[in-house]
Amino acid sequence: MTLLPARSPVPEHPYHRLDGRVMLQVKRAEDAPLADVSPLDSGIVFCGSKAAEDLRALTSGHGFSGPVLIDPAAYERYVATPERPFIVGQASLFNDDELAEELDRLLKQKSLMAMTPTGYLRAGDTRSLSAAVHRVTGLNRSDVLLTVPIDAGWLTGTAFPDLVSLLRRAPVPKAVILGASWDPLDRAGAAGRLRELFESVPECGLLRTDLAALDAMVHGADFAAIGDSPSARHARPPGPRGGGARARSSPALLIPRMLTYRRGEEFATVLAEADPPRCPCDFCAPWMRRRGLRDDGRPLTSFTTELEKAEAHAHNLAVWSALWSWVQNVDSRSQGLSKWKRICDRAVKEHRLLNELARSAGGGFEIPQALKTWAGLV
Ligand SMILES: [Zn+2]
Repeated sequence: MTLLPARSPVPEHPYHRLDGRVMLQVKRAEDAPLADVSPLDSGIVFCGSKAAEDLRALTSGHGFSGPVLIDPAAYERYVATPERPFIVGQASLFNDDELAEELDRLLKQKSLMAMTPTGYLRAGDTRSLSAAVHRVTGLNRSDVLLTVPIDAGWLTGTAFPDLVSLLRRAPVPKAVILGASWDPLDRAGAAGRLRELFESVPECGLLRTDLAALDAMVHGADFAAIGDSPSARHARPPGPRGGGARARSSPALLIPRMLTYRRGEEFATVLAEADPPRCPCDFCAPWMRRRGLRDDGRPLTSFTTELEKAEAHAHNLAVWSALWSWVQNVDSRSQGLSKWKRICDRAVKEHRLLNELARSAGGGFEIPQALKTWAGLV
């Protein structure tokens, strides 16, 4: 008989707290359904200019106990260069390592891990990415998350193998963020390459995204975050912003069976003549009951104005949380993959079905490029 030594308590590594979680990424806390985020299996990533303040309000006011990250989002303002892959402010007189000081500041502000203030990595800029990996390796810290804000052109360009091999070499966890002026996965081949990345790179997650979070998770990502508003669902290349960056009045609504976001007003207009699809999610069902209305879900054509923005965000969170909870409730990875594929197949069919219902010339719903890849059509 052997006597095993009493197990000494091992301090939990902060990275393990992110494992398996799909979190909510928030740029403007005012419209975000923060109180609906589950501290048990989700979390929050703040990326706005008031991120530290928002985190403080959340953890003190509501007492949120789940993981919270601050994404310093330096990539919104600066492009990375081989000389300056990380963008940091002025160091104090007492610390000549500006980067270390910035990372310490994020931890002091109670971010679970310190996300690096990486500049925007232009497509194929292997020198800047290599400099970032080299620098973060030299820090020799276990509380750092390497932010990897890549232009979507990396995925479809010839430098993709370099991206994978550099990230495989980084001995710290990594948070990939996709950048593009529009949908980063709109180009043919991009969604397939993103899968390849998560299948090949260990200790890696996908932040600031849409339903691509779920595809990444079933293909090997450790964690992900879905943005609550369009500006928190991908990065944009730094540069002067046109007038189009301003929020439009109609909220972006996640259409559950389509797996895509649509402007509420656009969706309602296209389906004006049809019996509208209804949503029985954890937000919409009680919303109907409170008004004494029929119990089969809220019409998805009823989120058309600025006034419904916070409600749309709460519905979006309820829908993807339920989706993720259903997809991950499996015994094996292959089961999870086939469940996800089934939902994507159904979403393709839903696009066709709603297009028939709409019967409007040219006003139909186009199947997004990424969904075609997830459903195995391309
Ligand atoms: Zn709903």
